[in-house]
Amino acid sequence: MVSEWGTWLSRRFGGAWLLLLALSLAATLGVVAGVPLWQAALGWFVLSGLALVTDRSLEPDAPPSSQSPDLPETIDPLAYVSATLEATDTASLLLDREANVLFQNKASDRVWGALPVGVHLSARLRSPAVLDMVRETLSTGKPNQIEHAERLPSQQVFLARIAPIEIPSGQGLDRIYLLSFRDISELRRLDRMRSDFVANASHELRTPLASLRGFIETLQGPAKSDPKAQERFLAIMLDQATRMSRLVDDLLSLSRLELKANLAPEGTVDLVPLLSHVRDSLVPLAEDLGVEIDLHLPPAPVEVTGDRDELVQVFENLIENACKYGQEGERVDVYLTASDPGPVEVTVQDHGPGIPLEHVPRLTERFYRVSVTDSRSKKGTGLGLAIVKHILTRHRARLIVSSEVGKGSRFTVRF
Ligand code: ADP
Repeated sequence: MVSEWGTWLSRRFGGAWLLLLALSLAATLGVVAGVPLWQAALGWFVLSGLALVTDRSLEPDAPPSSQSPDLPETIDPLAYVSATLEATDTASLLLDREANVLFQNKASDRVWGALPVGVHLSARLRSPAVLDMVRETLSTGKPNQIEHAERLPSQQVFLARIAPIEIPSGQGLDRIYLLSFRDISELRRLDRMRSDFVANASHELRTPLASLRGFIETLQGPAKSDPKAQERFLAIMLDQATRMSRLVDDLLSLSRLELKANLAPEGTVDLVPLLSHVRDSLVPLAEDLGVEIDLHLPPAPVEVTGDRDELVQVFENLIENACKYGQEGERVDVYLTASDPGPVEVTVQDHGPGIPLEHVPRLTERFYRVSVTDSRSKKGTGLGLAIVKHILTRHRARLIVSSEVGKGSRFTVRF
């Protein structure tokens, strides 16, 4: 209770209440000691009045000051908007009603070079489409946006957008304009890749389909009663249908891998038995091609974190490619090395014709082939190495390709 009173008094009279209490006590003692009452009362009033007037905390309901002593009295709205834009990574400029530059952030500086304050936007930005857009917004006051491509120093695509901003100025509002350039080059690149992929996949499927249709028509017409031709055509048709189903399988495989691209595998796989298994499964194909697959494996287990089926798919693809495209070398060597410390590596080496240097960086692109006819004649789809790359990315592993024309190729998987 006493402390509640103390708090109330403090809030009401600040630190002065203690002094008032002391003065009252002194006046009472004075009266008891014989000082006349009127003198004690006068002294009490004069001294308390002085105490209350000099105590600054006695402004009971004054709101607490929210301003830090370091802040300026008034904030310049333009400086405030500029500071906010400086913190973003979107290239942005503030323009006045005549399209003169009021401010440019660092991101814009990097794209357009430094534009001095006060200079007209067209001094640096030459694109007629962007300038027309700016002009339209300046006259209508309505936001606008267009796509704008810059070719130099490198191909970049931006979403250029302009919108008015009202900022306080004196007693009223002033209108300025925010012109921003959002870099959408990566989005456009992905769009292009997707549409290229659909176009390639459709083309790959259309070719065997057209051939199947052609043979069906021939079998219904000219070859209707020619058993020898029928037998030959049916064999080709079976081949084309098998090619289509291989392609569909690979496409499905790729899309499944894309769905789980960001999920790292959790299991543990011993690569020694896995590579032996892959070799055994490819022996019939290798024998048909006249190729021998030699495994060079360490005696102890070599374990990596991974998905067994996906790793089987990786090494099947690499060893099968080595047998098919390196057939002339008649031998494929598979090395498994695990130095501690150091990475685990599997190298598939063939002794065939090799791959010209300019093709090497593009081998893992979907449908990229050094020779389309060669790949087709070897039952390739052009998706094998793209699948390998996807699986390895998920496994946090790398594919390193080196090749020498006339000597053969090495495909190394480094975990
Ligand atoms: P494909 O289904 O055509 O074999 P891949 O994606 O597996 O598709 O391989 C892409 C291309 O890389 C092949 O078409 C071939 O031109 C080339 N290639 C792959 N492996 C080898 C190799 N060991 N030797 C020579 N060329 C190869």
